[in-house]
Amino acid sequence: MQANRVSPDQRLRALEKMAEIVCPSCAKANESTPCRRCGCDLSSLFAIDRAAGIELAAAAKCLRTGKAADARNHAARSWQLRHTLMAARLAFLACVALADSAAARYWCCRACGP
Ligand SMILES: [Zn+2]
Repeated sequence: MQANRVSPDQRLRALEKMAEIVCPSCAKANESTPCRRCGCDLSSLFAIDRAAGIELAAAAKCLRTGKAADARNHAARSWQLRHTLMAARLAFLACVALADSAAARYWCCRACGP
C-alpha cells in the first residue's frame, strides 16, 4: 500500500493557496476579507498574496521543467510581493541551477530564515 502521494498539480495548487492575512489595523489573523474583528477591508492584501502564490507556483513549475532563469524571475517576483521562505528557497535553487553563486548566496541568507 502506498502512502498518500501528492501530485505535482496538487503541490502547485497548495503553493497558490492564500495564507492568513494579519489585519494591519487590529492584528487579527484572517482567512478572508473583511477582518472578522474590526471589519477592515483586506481584499487588496489578499490579492497581493494570491499574486505571490501564482508567481511561486510558476517558479516551481519552471524549475521542474529546467527553465531555471524563468524560475528565478518568478521566485523573485513572488518574494517582492510577499517574503516567504518558499520563494527564497526556489530562488536559491534556481540560482544554483544557473551556477550563479553570488545570487545563490543572497537567496541562501533569506532561505535560511531569520
Ligand atoms: Zn482588523
